[in-house]
Amino acid sequence: MSWEKCIRLLGGWSAYEPGNVEVREASEDGPREVWIALDRKASRYLCSGCGKLRPRYHDAEEREIRDLPILGVPVRLFLWRFRVACPTCGPRLEALDWLDPRSRVTRRMAEDVARLCRVLPIKHVAERCGLDWHTVKAIDKAWLERTLPPLDMMGVDKLIMDEFAIHKGHRYATIITDADTRKVLWVGRGRGKEAVRPFFESIGLEARQRIHAVAMDMHAPFEVEVRAQCPAAEIVYDLFHVVMKFGREVIDRVRIDEANRVRKDKVARKVVKGSKWLLLANRENLTEPSHRVRLKELLEANQALMTVYLLKDDLKQLWGYSREGWARRAWNDWLARAMESGIAPLKAFARNLTKRIDGVLAQCRWKLNTSVLEGMNNKVKVLKRMAYGFRDDDYFFLKIKAAFPGKAR
Ligand SMILES: [Zn+2]
Repeated sequence: MSWEKCIRLLGGWSAYEPGNVEVREASEDGPREVWIALDRKASRYLCSGCGKLRPRYHDAEEREIRDLPILGVPVRLFLWRFRVACPTCGPRLEALDWLDPRSRVTRRMAEDVARLCRVLPIKHVAERCGLDWHTVKAIDKAWLERTLPPLDMMGVDKLIMDEFAIHKGHRYATIITDADTRKVLWVGRGRGKEAVRPFFESIGLEARQRIHAVAMDMHAPFEVEVRAQCPAAEIVYDLFHVVMKFGREVIDRVRIDEANRVRKDKVARKVVKGSKWLLLANRENLTEPSHRVRLKELLEANQALMTVYLLKDDLKQLWGYSREGWARRAWNDWLARAMESGIAPLKAFARNLTKRIDGVLAQCRWKLNTSVLEGMNNKVKVLKRMAYGFRDDDYFFLKIKAAFPGKAR
């Protein structure tokens, strides 16, 4: 079989057929490429407005379209793109099953690019496919817009809400996740009550009334809105955020106070000052034996750090109870130890948490899958690096939704 025939059989460019096929050798203008001229084959034109076949076209424009490479050699198609003379719709672009309107690459190439964009940064995809950065981004965005399913609240009765910074300290966004399936339902700009209102309005009253529990950060600015929109929902404060807050407001504060207290002892000061990461890391993540030894020595030498470190571990236990009575007893015990410690930042944190303790203990009634939060936080950071070298929030939000499709209920 001649290779022209092979191309003809496998091309799949409906309504067209390959005419002249040429291999262009590499030159200063670019790499080696296969150029395929597509000739018109079909005599009728499918109107993209009404879906009917029409015998006449209105006008045509010459177009250059990229297709998947043949044995690694990039392919460029040259064809006339027609506008149908439709008696019902007027002049309309011809509908083709292999080429989307306004697209500069075939649908199968767009699919390939979008698939690569799931795992590689845009820059690498662009290099690999011989496309420029903006084209790759546009292809991926259009693909996600076309393929991501619409918001579906069927069976959703528990939510996880979280905010994150788009640009550090400036702009924020809110993610709303189905706690059961871990599917990201909605991503929107902002983090206040007005910011999340469009979500609640779009799902309708019935879906709002079905929401039984919403997990969030203790200081989430959208709590008021959730209470107003979902009258049956109980607010649950998730472990991840409370422990992060404890790290920031207690452990790190004590670390700085302790470094100041031992400032005359240069060695001791350096050890305490340089221990931020060690103290805030999850103990499970300290796999390096030398790190464990350092942590042990640090805590043994420092009573205040030891106290807050142990209380952090015990605080986490509160989320492990399924009976509220036991959880409450554990909390009272924790609170007493915190207040007796004489450590000011710890006492302040404990007083603060007392006011909110019902939201912590609510976890006993609603076993919410908030363990997903830490992983989500990390993944969003990776996506930001991969997809967000520019300022297109909509694209970034689509990437987040695509990264958390959820599992079957
Ligand atoms: Zn039409």
